[in-house]
Amino acid sequence: MLKKIIVARHHGFCMGVERAIEIAEDTAAKRGGQNKVTILNEIVHNEAVVEKFRRQGVGQALSVDDVADGILIISAHGISPDVVESAERKGLEVVDATCPLVSRIYRIISKAMARGLYIIHYGDPHHDETAGIVGHAADRISVAASYEELLALPDWSDRQLGLTVQTTAHAMEFEEVEKLAKRKWPHIEVFNTICNATTRRQEAIIELAPQVDMILVVGSQTSANSKRLARISDDACGRGELIGSAEDIRDDWFTVDSTIESIGVSAGASTPQFLVDDVIERLVRISDGQAEVIRLVPEKRKEELDSTAG
Ligand code: SF4
Repeated sequence: MLKKIIVARHHGFCMGVERAIEIAEDTAAKRGGQNKVTILNEIVHNEAVVEKFRRQGVGQALSVDDVADGILIISAHGISPDVVESAERKGLEVVDATCPLVSRIYRIISKAMARGLYIIHYGDPHHDETAGIVGHAADRISVAASYEELLALPDWSDRQLGLTVQTTAHAMEFEEVEKLAKRKWPHIEVFNTICNATTRRQEAIIELAPQVDMILVVGSQTSANSKRLARISDDACGRGELIGSAEDIRDDWFTVDSTIESIGVSAGASTPQFLVDDVIERLVRISDGQAEVIRLVPEKRKEELDSTAG
């Protein structure tokens, strides 16, 4: 019988996602009447958020080639400068909702390249954020998505090297990446560009894991950080599930002989709070109203904002 539901100290929307949504909503509300407003790629990786904008008449495009006119909003994940240039050449007005912590990576890379460094970026080559970062580094960057890919890179003992990382990477995994990189290239400079929102959400899972029998992470299958939180939950708690919404909660998890008495709830940085609240409500209903809901109090967000420096 489910007796306890504990909500992670840090979960759901981060500063960069809230900011991007506000910029897009504001643009659509104030300028949408006279202009066609289009978001390039998904404003954030969550179907509910994307659908909300679609219902408001805001378009979505995968390429500048598909946008004829009007205002083009750049998503929280950022974009390559040549995409912005081609949009402006077409006469589109570009509104930039790139997260300041992604822009910070662009600045770090520019400064490092100005000092002659070649960049190795640890991240998913298919992610929008990586495409934007690669676009800011021209031909002075290589992307590695795994330990194996990192170790397979050339010797490069004659090159000055810098290592950066995707904002939403697994913080503990990156400690290993850093060690491997330093073993292979003792002279490499490491710039840990994982954002504080990511670290805090991952630490909150580690805090939650020993207190519960299972952790549900609410988030989209397209959200890298949500998938990572589910994987960390599985490793730390022994049972972690990524669910898109309350509808994905399975009745067979809570049969009469179920050993799940306590459950943790978290959510990716692109997951709106209403989806988390729906999950908590459904869990309370499953417990016939008996489960106690404990919401761990978040610490202030000051550090998330502080890391915009640099
Ligand atoms: S996860 Fe981090 S980098 Fe990405 S939008 Fe949120 S605060 Fe910005």
